[in-house]
Amino acid sequence: MTPTIAKIIWLACALIWFFLRFQPRQHSRKTPVSYSGRGPREFVLLAISLSGLGIVPCIYVAAHVPRFADYPLIPALSYLGIAVELASLWMFYRSHRDLGHNWSVSLDLRERHTLVTTGVYALVRHPMYAGFWLMALGQALLLPNWIAGPAGLVGFGVLFFGRVAREEAMMIKAFGDEYRTYMRRTARVVPWVY
Ligand code: SAH
Repeated sequence: MTPTIAKIIWLACALIWFFLRFQPRQHSRKTPVSYSGRGPREFVLLAISLSGLGIVPCIYVAAHVPRFADYPLIPALSYLGIAVELASLWMFYRSHRDLGHNWSVSLDLRERHTLVTTGVYALVRHPMYAGFWLMALGQALLLPNWIAGPAGLVGFGVLFFGRVAREEAMMIKAFGDEYRTYMRRTARVVPWVY
């Protein structure tokens, strides 16, 4: 294992993620949005997350910047990173399949929105965000750089903690007791823990 191989693996996982998203994006776009909680705050949160999970590591992989923050690669951590990235891709695949046309990149409710509580959604309320946490952790383990590695955890962390309570409030407004009951029997991202 070398830093170059680790970078190539990170890039390959990012590309697979992009293609996994492509079809659900096209599919859900066909269903119009009936309510949107988007605004400047959501825009800023998405930009911060995109920077940490995408822009900062891409600059590192393509241009090896910032070089001063490099540290020696530890092969065991890279292999763990590969396993975590594969788990995240599986989580994205499953959660997109289960969420179907209800998916959106931001806080939206679509026409004929249904509350999904089956599949991976029976395990946790936010499996797609669990997938992003795993992806960010995989990035931290794979990229031997003190800035490009942890950038995903910081960027996605800001989005997650800035959004999750508002998303749940939106779902309670839309589905009332059905969502409250669902909340009582599920954790947010880590089954039985959080
Ligand atoms: N937070 C979820 C979904 C992310 S996509 C996850 O991590 O898996 C964001 C959109 O999904 C939100 O705008 C909301 O409308 C929708 N959503 C969230 N949970 C849902 C559920 N259980 N059933 C249906 N739609 C849901």
